[in-house]
Amino acid sequence: MSLFEDLVAANRILAEHGVIDGYGHVSVRCENNPDRYWISRSLAPELVTEEDLMEFDLDSKPIDQRGRTMYTERYIHGEIYKTRPEVRAVVHNHSPSVIPFGIIDQPMKPVYHMSHFVGMGVPIFEIRDLVPDSDLLIRDTYLGAALARSLGGKACALMRGHGAVVVAESLPVVVGRSIYLEMNAKLQAQAMTLAGPGGAVNYLTPGESAASVGTQDYLRAWQLWRARGLRDVKPKA
Ligand code: MN
Repeated sequence: MSLFEDLVAANRILAEHGVIDGYGHVSVRCENNPDRYWISRSLAPELVTEEDLMEFDLDSKPIDQRGRTMYTERYIHGEIYKTRPEVRAVVHNHSPSVIPFGIIDQPMKPVYHMSHFVGMGVPIFEIRDLVPDSDLLIRDTYLGAALARSLGGKACALMRGHGAVVVAESLPVVVGRSIYLEMNAKLQAQAMTLAGPGGAVNYLTPGESAASVGTQDYLRAWQLWRARGLRDVKPKA
């Protein structure tokens, strides 16, 4: 069980759960050099194998490109690793149920214990504050740094009209948070619809959210997801 194998598994798990599709990416900070991170070459996450992983410095420059194409939005990862030394894994996705909460004036709130981290608050990154009429993509370190500032010390942030970014101290937790962020958005939308206009929804309190921080490692689920995610990966010759 290596970190590379975990990163391959993370790509496939997130694709299986519909959190990423042909787009979106997951990275992990290098174990023995905190100024570098690993992410796939530009490739649909469900197809990623260990051979596709590339190493980058925190300016998101490749260490050894060898002609491989790279994700345009890799700056998201590098700039967050610069500002959050405790973060060891980053996901960028276009998680469908999350998108509406980036474009309405009602914030995401924690509906249940699995997504307690939502109770830390979910900032919304507005690229229009920096660039009018952009294509919404994080194409350089300038935009990546601005997104990292919006994220602040939180577990996740929404990107208006685009997607989300999720961070954690490990791959299992960043994968768990990404899956349960999508779930929270879906359930919150259902609850708001059932409650009707002006109806009350009984969310987790800030105290309940805080009580769960550090207790949820998603490890039991991770073992299952990982085994499923790697079942179609051919063993190395
Ligand atoms: Mn994107």
